[in-house]
Amino acid sequence: MSDMKLILLGAPGAGKGTQAAVLSSRLCVPTISTGSILRTAINNGTPIGLEAEKYIKDGKLVPDEIIIGIVRDRLAEEDCKDGYILDGVPRTLGQADAMEQLGIDIDIALSIEISDDTIIDRLSGRKSCIECSSIYHISSNPPKFEGVCDQCGGELITRGDDQPEIIRKRLNVYHEETEPLKTYYDVRGKLRFVDNKPTIEDTTIAIVAVLGL
Ligand code: AMP
Repeated sequence: MSDMKLILLGAPGAGKGTQAAVLSSRLCVPTISTGSILRTAINNGTPIGLEAEKYIKDGKLVPDEIIIGIVRDRLAEEDCKDGYILDGVPRTLGQADAMEQLGIDIDIALSIEISDDTIIDRLSGRKSCIECSSIYHISSNPPKFEGVCDQCGGELITRGDDQPEIIRKRLNVYHEETEPLKTYYDVRGKLRFVDNKPTIEDTTIAIVAVLGL
């Protein structure tokens, strides 16, 4: 099924990126991850990357104007015309309002629910590919060869913002700034929930059921 315009909501580490990758190939629509676009900009040393890095390394949110510009430009690309999955955006009420004003369509905002304790455990063991952003976990989803991406052979690293005290800051930011988006989309009749399950596959099954795919 294409034409799905989906937002994945949830705390950092809820599994948005992992589930977005699975859903993208299933629905044949691209995933737009602002976090991954910003990390690429940082690696390339672009002006946006240099600005964003100041916030990301402290576990803070990047200002709305930067994010909105990124989303607007990316969604204008040809591959987004039949649907998209937004991973990690919007993250503030300001971003949600701006997107609505830009006429960005959303069918469903799906919130992946997970406890803070599970997140801290999960993010401390997360590894990401420096080349293609594929996500692994040292115990629950390890790569075939330690430190090497199964998908592209790229190097696997621990993200700078996956250190324990930065994780706690990101969680606070999530509860204060992003969680109110649940009410925002609930009021519009677009909110759905799914509980995080112990395995990636079980969470996917729950999501597929909720989305009626
Ligand atoms: P993520 O990969 O989604 O966890 O994003 C990593 C970091 O990038 C976040 O902790 C923020 O600093 C920044 N970021 C990503 N998306 C957004 C957004 N929509 N609004 C503000 N900051 C963002």
